Amino acid sequence: MFVTEKISEIRQQRWKDKNASWGLVPTMGYLHAGHLSLVRAAREENRRVAVSIFVNPIQFNRKSDFESYPSNLEQDLNLLKAEGVDLVWVPKTSDIYNENFQSYVEIEKITSVLEGAARPGHFRGVTTIVAILFNVFQPDRAYFGQKDAQQEAVIRRMVEDLHFNLEIRTCPIIREKDGLAMSSRNVNLSKQARQECPVLYRSLLLGKKLLEEGEQNAAIVRAAMMEEIEKQPLAKIDYVSIADPVTLQELEKVEDKALLSLAVFWGEVRLIDNIVFSQKNS
Ligand code: AMP
Repeated sequence: MFVTEKISEIRQQRWKDKNASWGLVPTMGYLHAGHLSLVRAAREENRRVAVSIFVNPIQFNRKSDFESYPSNLEQDLNLLKAEGVDLVWVPKTSDIYNENFQSYVEIEKITSVLEGAARPGHFRGVTTIVAILFNVFQPDRAYFGQKDAQQEAVIRRMVEDLHFNLEIRTCPIIREKDGLAMSSRNVNLSKQARQECPVLYRSLLLGKKLLEEGEQNAAIVRAAMMEEIEKQPLAKIDYVSIADPVTLQELEKVEDKALLSLAVFWGEVRLIDNIVFSQKNS
């Protein structure tokens, strides 16, 4: 496994064998089974697999979130080695963003709602770093998690709009046994918060069940989901959304498809999760 921070070495490794297909898995490190599922998906479809580990400062809208973001490079590298990863890119912030940096990638409409509305500047940071990673690495395929459903939609928009020559793959959400979606931030939860937060998945399942039973009024479903979360003493809801899965606009009436998503704070830790409702599956 070749590990480097240097862009020149990344390019060299990437093009060493011109015929090999490459899958890239962008991450912010502190890897868990969710990240490893992306690595495995990449392994299945490509001759070579690369992982980037970079805690991208410009996508954090809260200083405390950036400063408390966990990291353990040694542990990450051990996990990736065990997965047979070929190349790990651990860039330095100053190599990505030079001191005169002023080129940002901004996607419009689809970033104005949900995470984009709750975290000003977040998606501008995400699309800028992902565009840089794609531009430097030029993977054949890149792997993202359904955990960040809006991020995936935004990146697909960017790839289509800017004509990046690669395929985007989306992998299912990996959960703990109690339903909590795996996240690097989970390690920052207090003991009580950790006990409370499986309510996120319970609330999503409740919403989905109501829709499957024929409830079409999104306001009623949203209210039921919020009531479930509010039973937990430490939980502070940021948003609960029932939106069109393509436009991400909030729905009043749910017909055949919806993206149920939510963001909830436990103290300084903000967790997100989502589930897709589709009439055909019910
Ligand atoms: P992060 O390191 O949190 O930026 O995540 C890197 C990639 O892993 C993103 O595409 C995430 O959507 C994905 N990911 C994070 N958590 C999970 C999870 N529990 N299941 C599947 N994918 C995940």
